Formats: sequence, structure tokens, C-alpha cells
Amino acid sequence: MSDVTGEAELRYLRRCVELAAEALDAGDEPFGSVLVDGDGTVHAEDRNRVASGDSTRHPEFALARWAAENLTVSERATATVYTSGEHCPMCAAAHAWVGLGRIVYAASSEQLTGWLTEWGVPASPVAPLPVAAVAPGVTVEGPAPELTAQVRALHARLHGVAEDAS
Ligand SMILES: [Zn+2]
Repeated sequence: MSDVTGEAELRYLRRCVELAAEALDAGDEPFGSVLVDGDGTVHAEDRNRVASGDSTRHPEFALARWAAENLTVSERATATVYTSGEHCPMCAAAHAWVGLGRIVYAASSEQLTGWLTEWGVPASPVAPLPVAAVAPGVTVEGPAPELTAQVRALHARLHGVAEDAS
């Protein structure tokens, strides 16, 4: 893993953070993702939709399914999924099963887990394994230090933690 530095990469990640904010504003958890093809064209984007009552409705899972239905095998392999928070094990598995390419995230699962622990939020029912532990063949890049404060602030809002806006 390495830190994300490219300006183009950051642009996609900023869109993910916007989608995460939209999710939060809509009463959902703040996660957002975009799927970009090998030429840099955004093909699909989504945000968390677990407020529906279905806790599997993560954007990365939705994008994996979208890719399976709409992209050829070679198109999937050269696509990159950008996301505000590192894929959970379910989404990392879906990403690998459909043969998608790179993952680039703004905040890591390790960072998110650290924040939740700090705030006393109960652990989720799924172990916060890094993508590399679930899908070792997938190239993963992140976190993006430029976006850490923003992503942390969204999760702080979700959990009702008062923090200075940054
Ligand atoms: Zn997930």
C-alpha cells in the first residue's frame, strides 16, 4: 500500500467523499465509491444505502455487481474503484470475484476502526480485515492524507461525536 498523491486520483476520491456526505445527509452511513475505466472515464458511482434495512448495500458491492452486468472481463480488469473508505471483507470479495482491477481508498479500515474505538462505538459484526487479507491479488492504494480529516468528520457526525470542523 502507498499513499495516494496523484491529482487525478484525488479528484475521484473527492467525488467519493461527496457521495459519502450525500449518504450521511440522506440518513445513511457516509461511504461513497466511483468506478473509473482504464481511460479515466467515470462509469458508475454509488453511496451507502444500508438505511433501507439491508446492511449489505455498500457502494463497493453495488459497483461490483454493476461491473459484472455491464463490463466485459477485460474492461473490469482495467477498471479502478475509488472509495471513501477501504472495502470491507464482503466488498473486497465481491470486487475480486467479478475481476475488477485496482482499489484506491481515502481512508483505511484500520483508520476507521481506530476512530470508532476512540469514540466507543461497538465493533461491527464483520472483522475489519484489510483488502489485502481478503483479495491478495488486487492492487490497493491509500490512504489519502489530504482527505483524512474530511472522512473522519463525516464518521464523527454519524456517531454524534462533537469535533471541530476541519
Ligand atoms: Zn462493504
